[in-house]
Amino acid sequence: MNPVTIVTGGSRGIGAATARRLAHDGHHVVVGYRRDHDAAARVVADIRTAGRHGIAVAAEAADPEQIQRLFDTAADLGPLTGLVNNAGVTSPIGPFTDLRVDDLRRVVDVNLIGYVLAAQQAARRMSAGGAIVNVSSAAATLGSPGEYVHYAAVKAATDTLTVGLAKELAPRGIRVNAVAPGIIRTDLHAVSGAPDRPDTAAGRIPMGRAGQPDEVAGAIAWLLGPDAGYTTGAVLRVSGGL
Ligand code: NAP
Repeated sequence: MNPVTIVTGGSRGIGAATARRLAHDGHHVVVGYRRDHDAAARVVADIRTAGRHGIAVAAEAADPEQIQRLFDTAADLGPLTGLVNNAGVTSPIGPFTDLRVDDLRRVVDVNLIGYVLAAQQAARRMSAGGAIVNVSSAAATLGSPGEYVHYAAVKAATDTLTVGLAKELAPRGIRVNAVAPGIIRTDLHAVSGAPDRPDTAAGRIPMGRAGQPDEVAGAIAWLLGPDAGYTTGAVLRVSGGL
């Protein structure tokens, strides 16, 4: 039987690359997204071209009812085996003293409450062999001074969520891991007001370049798969050495 995996934020960036990669690896994939319906539909078309089932479901990550509906819809494809908790936002880059409380709340809502809600649905529904991958960030250990310290703090919470949940779910045979990408070429940087950040930051990345979404997708696919069968509670850095 094919694995069935939900990828939140699967319409663009790292999530879209992951959905395509998982379809290539044999997963049926449910693509969660917020509003870019056309982008989600393109990913689903590629999943189907790969010979797998794909569904796009609009679901606001921070809304418990919409997340429940996302998981209920996924059940149409079979028993859930995987969750990639990926839907995330940043806010405008800037000094900590300029942080607006609305931006702070949005980052906490989507990146932390959203991850907890989806992980909770997955934990309730998965059986032995299930796996969750949380998309964290290298920011969790770097702190992102002068850029978005609040975002980095929330990503550190993602790492703790990963470790605690890994231990709680291990007796049930469910693995929980995280990837911590560095600076990856996606639309995220435009949203935070620095569209050329992948280029301007290259000089401080030991490998001298930003990463591609596919390079993160490969790590996520490995963590979901049988070769990572004894790996749980890990935070795998995918950052070019950052
Ligand atoms: P992206 O290109 O901006 O894509 C974000 C995705 O999340 C889109 O599919 C978007 O849906 C969805 N999304 C955003 N807010 C949502 C919400 N409230 N509810 C449901 N879906 C929502 O971002 P990305 O760079 O791929 O980032 C993916 C993850 O990687 C995030 O958790 C981010 O923090 C993390 N990360 C990124 C980088 C990087 O350099 N890019 C580095 C480290 C970690 P729509 O298309 O409908 O808007």
